[in-house]
Amino acid sequence: MYADIIIDISSGQLDKTYQYRIPERLAEKAVIGALVTIPFGASERKGYIVGLSEEPKIEEERIKPIRRVEEKGEVIESQMIELAYFIRENFGATMNAALHTVLPVKKQVRQVVKKTVVLTENSDVARDALSEAVRKKHVAKERLLKELLQERALAWNIVTEKLAVSAATIQSLEKAGVVKVREETDYRNPMEHMLPAEAAGKAEPLHLNESQQLIHDTVLRDWESGERKTYLIHGVTGSGKTEVYLSVIEEFVKRGRQVIMLIPEIALTYQTVLRFYHRFGERVSILNSRMSAGERYDQSLRAKRGEIDIMIGPRSALFTPFERLGLIIIDEEHESSYKSEMPPKYHAREVAVKRAGLCGASVILGSATPSLEAYERARTGEYTLFTLDKRAVSGAVLPQVEVVDLREELKAGNRSIFSRSLQEKLSKRLLRGEQSMLFLNRRGYAGFVSCRSCGHVMKCPHCDISMTAHDNGMLVCHYCGEKQPKPATCPVCGSKYIAAFGTGTQKIEELVKKTFPAARVLRMDADTTKKKESYEEILSAFSCGEADILIGTQMIVKGHDFPNVTLVGILAADLSLNASDYRASERTFELLAQAAGRAGRGRKAGEVVIQTYQPEHYAVRAAAKQDYVQFFEQELSYRQALSYPPAGHILALLVSSAKEENADAAAALLGSMAKQYIGREQEQRETAIIGPVPATLAKASDMYRRMLYFKQEKYPALVALKNFLEGYIVYSEHFKNVGVQFDFDPMNGY
Ligand code: ADP
Ligand code: ZN
Ligand code: ZN
Repeated sequence: MYADIIIDISSGQLDKTYQYRIPERLAEKAVIGALVTIPFGASERKGYIVGLSEEPKIEEERIKPIRRVEEKGEVIESQMIELAYFIRENFGATMNAALHTVLPVKKQVRQVVKKTVVLTENSDVARDALSEAVRKKHVAKERLLKELLQERALAWNIVTEKLAVSAATIQSLEKAGVVKVREETDYRNPMEHMLPAEAAGKAEPLHLNESQQLIHDTVLRDWESGERKTYLIHGVTGSGKTEVYLSVIEEFVKRGRQVIMLIPEIALTYQTVLRFYHRFGERVSILNSRMSAGERYDQSLRAKRGEIDIMIGPRSALFTPFERLGLIIIDEEHESSYKSEMPPKYHAREVAVKRAGLCGASVILGSATPSLEAYERARTGEYTLFTLDKRAVSGAVLPQVEVVDLREELKAGNRSIFSRSLQEKLSKRLLRGEQSMLFLNRRGYAGFVSCRSCGHVMKCPHCDISMTAHDNGMLVCHYCGEKQPKPATCPVCGSKYIAAFGTGTQKIEELVKKTFPAARVLRMDADTTKKKESYEEILSAFSCGEADILIGTQMIVKGHDFPNVTLVGILAADLSLNASDYRASERTFELLAQAAGRAGRGRKAGEVVIQTYQPEHYAVRAAAKQDYVQFFEQELSYRQALSYPPAGHILALLVSSAKEENADAAAALLGSMAKQYIGREQEQRETAIIGPVPATLAKASDMYRRMLYFKQEKYPALVALKNFLEGYIVYSEHFKNVGVQFDFDPMNGY
């Protein structure tokens, strides 16, 4: 038997593997994923077995044998490597990049080591040494020993800095057997400083209501009978999904299982973490992008040693090396942050289901607005569907929603960005001392052109997505490349108020202050949250009643509970409808439904005002009724008509180069190679090619970007096409200075 081994996963772009022979005595242990020691040049190195084969790739005699198999963590590593294979195959990337994603890389991390100076067991030795130091006037030694005889142990930096004792002095005392220097790796607990210890693990579980209990019982009954499934909880905001997670997690932990809970980074707030900490205390840890690489690495070591049971974090927490993983939860399953923006561009939902399959775990997905993909699978029985359609707090009801047609406002002579109804409702809140949130939908703000009189949006005649205004006065479709000059008047109603749309939060803040001079206003957007803690600061200030109105972008719609908020105003609800992206309606529905869900979280009834130019659009209408299923059905038929996911699949190729002509040539070449392949292969018969076209961001960081899209009903056919193109790219001369990235069913625009 022979093994393919990747030696250094922290360097190199290419999947360079080396073949080694597996000696008979190691046959059992040398499995895929095993960490092995091999002779390499004059020395030895460690590497991972990523493949096995019967055939030698070069002459037998030249293949060296594996020396040792490092046993520790073999099972978990082999699962992770299988996961890397899955990611590489299904999402496109080098094996190195995939391994990087799934395995914590030790090399890059400087481990923090806690050094302490301690007395040896026998303090008589220390007292003798002290007398000797006094006699010989070794003042540094005297200082250190006096202190140590009192404290027994001192941190290294206290000894060297505060007591000013040199490392050489410590060493000489160590040699004489008087002191010892103890080294410990510091597994920092990120929860430690932020949370009050007395509260840990003390929270009493709530009594679940009937619908919550049903989910809890079903998941556990399946588990006990050995069934492993993926569940989707479709539950309106505030329906008690998190409470269900907590109670199910508790049962898994009782059974000795570990749990990964993914939540979008933006919802990973103090409030959420506190809720888990109150319930599970020290057995919970978190990961987030604000932690250093070292801190994150420490957490994965703690996980591997079984020191924690629950890991909460964004996408990357999926790769926590738990050996007894029993459950993966993905909250806010619809979030686009679950799709990686860096190669490999994997989707956490798919990888979670795969990982669960490898280790026999269950998966729970939860959302108030599930992705079309997840809900479609739940409907067809691939996932098990649960619905929570009422708020869990007794007395809390879903808010009243009013849709305001902005075209009518303009007709009535109101040019303000606040409709008359919204102004009136805002003043009432100010009088009553209640809070309001104003939400500016800025998604898809990439310069689409619309008419302010009739709401008409300039769309591509071939693609049913809005065109983007370019500086040269042209409108361009980024899906098919269609170009048109920007019209001077609206082609539908003739109005001259047709322009690229855009209003900032800052502008709105000014306008609010002008209209309501007495109101206390807070603003939350990319500008005001640049600092590390400012996001939490603004939310907690608002939560404490330090402002009457909170203005913000999508950031404000996530997670937080504000019981005193009784009004949510959504300005320009349809901005995101016009994003040049087939998910535009889905995003809009999500944002509107989630934003509306912020109102009336406490006992006071909530009201929502949705301002829009397209009140008749199904995403707006369904969101106003908080009717997910109605939205789902309309949106699915649109996706089916155009073969967009989940009805079909898309493979996007981003080709980038510092030289424009190289990007163009490479994209054209890939396009024609793909065309030949598609013409030749039976399974590619239905594959459609779109492009090459310039990306929406046609030039970014001095790189020219070109796109190719392939549409096809069957995912495996797109995987085969990707494999073909990948094979070609590796061997072709033309891609030396050109980057190519693959993206299946893209969620983030280009
Ligand atoms: P979601 O995750 O669906 O938004 P949460 O689990 O955060 O919902 O619950 C919303 C609110 O309802 C929270 O304040 C929570 O404490 C409360 N809640 C949840 N379940 C119950 C229950 N069974 N009884 C009473 N209150 C509950
Ligand atoms: Zn088009
Ligand atoms: Zn018009």
